[in-house]
Amino acid sequence: MDPDILIIGGGPAGLSTALHLQRMDPLLATRVLILEKARYPRFKLCAGALVVDAEVLLERLGLDVSEVPHVDADNIQFDFEGSGLNFRMWKRHALRIIRRDEFDNWLAIKAKSRGLEIMEGITVKNIIPNKDGVTIETDQEIFHAQVVVGADGSNGITRRCIFPNAPVYTARLLEVLTPAYSCGPADASSKPFRLGTGREQVAYFDFFPVPNNIAGYVWDFPTQVGGESMRCWGIYDTNILSDQDRPQLKEPLAEEMARLGFRLSDYELKGHPIRWFSPGNQMSVPRVLLVGDAAGADPLLGEGISIALGYGSLAAREIAESFQRNDFSFNGYRRRVMGSALGRSLLVRWAITHIIYPLKWKWFQILLWRFLKPVLTFIAKRFVLNWGKRI
Ligand SMILES: Cc1cc2nc3c(=O)[nH]c(=O)nc-3n(C[C@H](O)[C@H](O)[C@H](O)COP(=O)(O)OP(=O)(O)OC[C@H]3O[C@@H](n4cnc5c(N)ncnc54)[C@H](O)[C@@H]3O)c2cc1C
Repeated sequence: MDPDILIIGGGPAGLSTALHLQRMDPLLATRVLILEKARYPRFKLCAGALVVDAEVLLERLGLDVSEVPHVDADNIQFDFEGSGLNFRMWKRHALRIIRRDEFDNWLAIKAKSRGLEIMEGITVKNIIPNKDGVTIETDQEIFHAQVVVGADGSNGITRRCIFPNAPVYTARLLEVLTPAYSCGPADASSKPFRLGTGREQVAYFDFFPVPNNIAGYVWDFPTQVGGESMRCWGIYDTNILSDQDRPQLKEPLAEEMARLGFRLSDYELKGHPIRWFSPGNQMSVPRVLLVGDAAGADPLLGEGISIALGYGSLAAREIAESFQRNDFSFNGYRRRVMGSALGRSLLVRWAITHIIYPLKWKWFQILLWRFLKPVLTFIAKRFVLNWGKRI
């Protein structure tokens, strides 16, 4: 039988939408089908850092994320060229770092255990909304639904079908996993050192590439893979300085890793884009709405897991109300997102992105990351984080 609500993509955004619907309207949730092109546990390139809001939203769904293998970073260090400011949360870890294959698999198991239906290994190829419903063509069969949720990530098909000509703002990212420790460069003159000493519980962001027109940072997080301590490194570039000369993205990453005794070429480098939020982003057409990266993630740091979970909550309410009113225009969805605590946080992040990266001079970046701790901490806690409780 065809579902009433078809969710394309079983990542955090799609699963959160389904779980929130199940909590708001259990009867409606029996008419939900999630289509996921991969099979769990599936690989997803991601550093896996969960901010406090992700945990708040999961707790509200009655889920305990500490069941997922993780590493906690007690401190976040925002640096420029190796020194800067330290950020902590009151009486809790600053970031919880999971692996996405494990986290998404856990979330999918929770969704299934609550009666939600997920079809794995099926790829959506086309979405055709019309007056009476939506036709969804896949590589296996054709579905008809009342409503479609596009939760298919930054490269998703849903957005491309409903907004083929809309502008897209995309960040580029590279990521690499290494062992937690390095004995330093094999160079007779250099003293051996162990990366890890004092770094195990710290997540580093270093904005040194900004003066070279890479509007982002290099990261170095603790993580674990199969219970073994590792480090996850990467580089994020919003692309907002892409009209100027830039080095290849892997050059600053290699430089930072070399500073700490790692050779980038020894490890497997992977890349993936993030589609980010801009106030002009369209988020729905009649009968189809977008969530997660498909709608737009954080442009400032590329944080998207908590945001995907948050969109899920807003989309579920929009859908539940649309069935009550029998009106699937989704006219108010964008307004709902923008007026929510999540929307306000995204708007602030978008505004900060368009200030701190274009002001790319070294002296400004030093001032920002080394001397403005009270201002940044206030903005982060008041306007960027802690929206999960208010959504
Ligand atoms: C290198 C990198 C590092 C990152 N690090 C962090 C971090 O540390 N913290 C953080 O919060 N965010 C991070 N992000 C961002 C985060 O990964 C995303 O914001 C998040 O995954 C968005 O969730 P989503 O559910 O919208 O999309 P996704 O997680 O991409 O899920 C989309 C799902 O849809 C499925 N799908 C796609 N197309 C189809 C189709 N045609 N048919 C059926 N199914 C389909 C996919 O298989 C996938 O399971 C990072 C991203 C990258 C690239």
